[in-house]
Amino acid sequence: MSDEQTDLQSRYAESLMNTFGPPKLILTRGDGAHVWDADGKEYVDLLGGIAVNALGHAHPTLVDAITAQLQTLGHVSNFFATQPQIELAEKLLALLVPASSGREAGKVFFTNSGTEANEAAFKLTRRTGRTHLVAAEDAFHGRTMGALALTAKAAYREPFEPLPGNVTFVPYGDVAALEAAVTDQTAAIVLEPIQGEAGVVVPPPGYLAEARRIATHNGALLWLDEIQTGIGRTGKWFNSDVAADVVTVAKGLAGGFPIGACIATGAAADLLQPGNHGTTFGGNPVACAAALAVIGVIEDEDLLEHVTVLGQKIRDGLAADPRVAEVRGEGLLIGLDLTEPLSAEVTAAALKAGFIINNPTPERIRLAPPLVLTADDAAAFLEAWPAILDGAFG
Ligand SMILES: *Cc1c(COP(=O)(O)O)cnc(C)c1O
Repeated sequence: MSDEQTDLQSRYAESLMNTFGPPKLILTRGDGAHVWDADGKEYVDLLGGIAVNALGHAHPTLVDAITAQLQTLGHVSNFFATQPQIELAEKLLALLVPASSGREAGKVFFTNSGTEANEAAFKLTRRTGRTHLVAAEDAFHGRTMGALALTAKAAYREPFEPLPGNVTFVPYGDVAALEAAVTDQTAAIVLEPIQGEAGVVVPPPGYLAEARRIATHNGALLWLDEIQTGIGRTGKWFNSDVAADVVTVAKGLAGGFPIGACIATGAAADLLQPGNHGTTFGGNPVACAAALAVIGVIEDEDLLEHVTVLGQKIRDGLAADPRVAEVRGEGLLIGLDLTEPLSAEVTAAALKAGFIINNPTPERIRLAPPLVLTADDAAAFLEAWPAILDGAFG
């Protein structure tokens, strides 16, 4: 690391709270799926800001949309409305509940992040008159107190207790456990269609449909947290086509501009009424224009198909090495288990080789690259993969 990076690292340590540990690099610019650090070294970004930079870095359509909106109207209070906000709400509803689906119509509440989208959903569930929630072990729903109440892991919860209570945790993917936990006092079942932060854990086929059946049987809502899996990440607009009452999205929605959305359908869409919830920034016209641009590029460039094809190629390539025990995921949300708990070493070796990847657990590697990742960049990574593993396994 150069003197300049070392200097920026020490200024970071002096001026920012130590919530994330020391940064791996100081990054200065990006273009497509590539980023450069303060020393001018280039990397292929296979993490995409954790499933956020859907169009990569500095995509001209996104830059133009944000610039044009900012030059026109950058913010208004929620005493007023803007066209991008209304258009984005209509667009999300059209994607989630196509007219052909026969499902009940829905409504949207906009936020600035994933955890805030979940906070809105959490409050919405309280308006059912019930308070009991059922969530999955190893789930991640964000860092606010409400989201933390939906997190099973004691190490995350205990420093911040008391949290909102009456949450039952069940093993993810286990239908019988879900059936046993949900009662006629349950307000909602909350699940990720694929557990992202847990290391891309895919439930058994039919699990979410069973969750729908169990929720309906008990008069509970089904709330799917698609914050990581939604908006093209898995080669579909939403990973699950099960008809949830509530769906939350965020990460990739505006390609890096902060935004989140809580989408509810049917009767759940009218649970939050005037005075029940609010936000100053949520629904900001710049964020909404950014999201409309992201969705537009995904449509215009057929990225859902690209994501599906390229994701399969990458999974096949990764699985070819005997030091990889299992590869999981859909589209460009990819997780793998190493045969040994060396994910930190593998991530470090990849960075040295010019590839940004992520190690959510000691055994697991996650990739969530920009949806615009090229076949050439993917091929370069797969070619480097065995040597990266050599660097870590020794
Ligand atoms: C990232 C994530 C969140 C939290 O989103 P933030 O924008 O970090 O608050 C919630 N749920 C899931 C599934 C996520 O992946």
